[in-house]
Amino acid sequence: MPHTELYDLLGVAPSASESDLKKAYRKKAMKYHPDRNPEAGEKFKEISQAYDVLSNAEKRSVYDRHGLEGLQEGRGEGGGAADIFEHLFGFGGGRSQRGPRRGEDTVQPLSVSMEDMFKGTTKRIALRKKVLCSSCEGRGGKAGGGRTCTSCDGQGVRVQLRQIGPGMVQQMRVACDRCSGSGEIWNPSDVCKVCNGKKLTQERKILEVHIDKGMRNGQKITFRGEGDQEPGIEPGDVVLVLQEKKHPMFERYGKDLVMKINIGLIEALCGFTIKVKHLDDRVLAITCRPGEVIQPDAIKIVPEEGFPEHRRIFEKGDLYIRFEVDFDFPEGFLSAERISALEKLLPARPNRPAVTGEGEPEEVFLAQPKRNPGEGTGAATSSEAYDEDDHEARSGPGGVPCAHQ
Ligand SMILES: [Zn+2]
Ligand SMILES: [Zn+2]
Repeated sequence: MPHTELYDLLGVAPSASESDLKKAYRKKAMKYHPDRNPEAGEKFKEISQAYDVLSNAEKRSVYDRHGLEGLQEGRGEGGGAADIFEHLFGFGGGRSQRGPRRGEDTVQPLSVSMEDMFKGTTKRIALRKKVLCSSCEGRGGKAGGGRTCTSCDGQGVRVQLRQIGPGMVQQMRVACDRCSGSGEIWNPSDVCKVCNGKKLTQERKILEVHIDKGMRNGQKITFRGEGDQEPGIEPGDVVLVLQEKKHPMFERYGKDLVMKINIGLIEALCGFTIKVKHLDDRVLAITCRPGEVIQPDAIKIVPEEGFPEHRRIFEKGDLYIRFEVDFDFPEGFLSAERISALEKLLPARPNRPAVTGEGEPEEVFLAQPKRNPGEGTGAATSSEAYDEDDHEARSGPGGVPCAHQ
């Protein structure tokens, strides 16, 4: 991945000759000079800095090989490039030089049931991590017995560049592999027997994870400094990312819960009490009084039976219930007597407007569709959608025989 940001600023290819660069710079500088173009803001500065780097053969070759990060490393010998980092990438020129060096965070998912997020719980998870060897206190050998490592000049670290995105590199410091980061090497007899001079041992660590009531999918729980240890650096964090497991009955939308209940026609009309086990094992007796008719696909709520809000657990969401009304009848249930009895019980049939047209009305009967509207007129794919339902074509929904049979 070539580094091109600076070339892009001047509008030239990375292969541009010195005189091409000069021409391009002059043109851009004229255009964006603050005297001529006060609107251009920092543009002039960026162009000047890009040219400053690219017009110097040494800096240009560092940039070509290592990008802006490379220049950042060597900026003691001439400067110029530091400011440009802020303009291009939003980070300060010298940041990586200051403050304690810090190891990488260990990020891992933690699968949690909806019940646990509702009630809150404490989980114990086992973690394998590298820790400084306790036998040699992370030295790798006998105290005072080491010599300076020549691979890293006793620094213990090498700088490594890692591509983190198009045109962006991250500078990483990695432990010197010869001396395992201590800057010292040992005579074979002085090497620590526990860690074999590696300074690090593997440890199994148990973390207590408190899942609070109302925590959400994707929420992070951070254990400061519990990442892998390495000599001379501050360990990174362990970050657990909560992943809410699917629940067979409830779906969660933030603090609200949604569930579906199927009811029969008699329940829709005459009321019901339906028991539902909640996420905290309480049983809710969801009651609809007789006469409160539930329409098909009606949505009702049980107030404050949703999720508690994280850290404000007395503020609760609602439980939404979507009702599906099943019009299923046992076979032969709708006998002639029952139909006429229902006719008398149910409200009168709706008045329909009179329809007149040419000739007498023609009586036609309902049948099951065999294809989607507009689909296929003899083509091979025409009736796929309904092929499996063919056998139902001769009876009404739910096995109720149609009137014409
Ligand atoms: Zn050791
Ligand atoms: Zn070394």
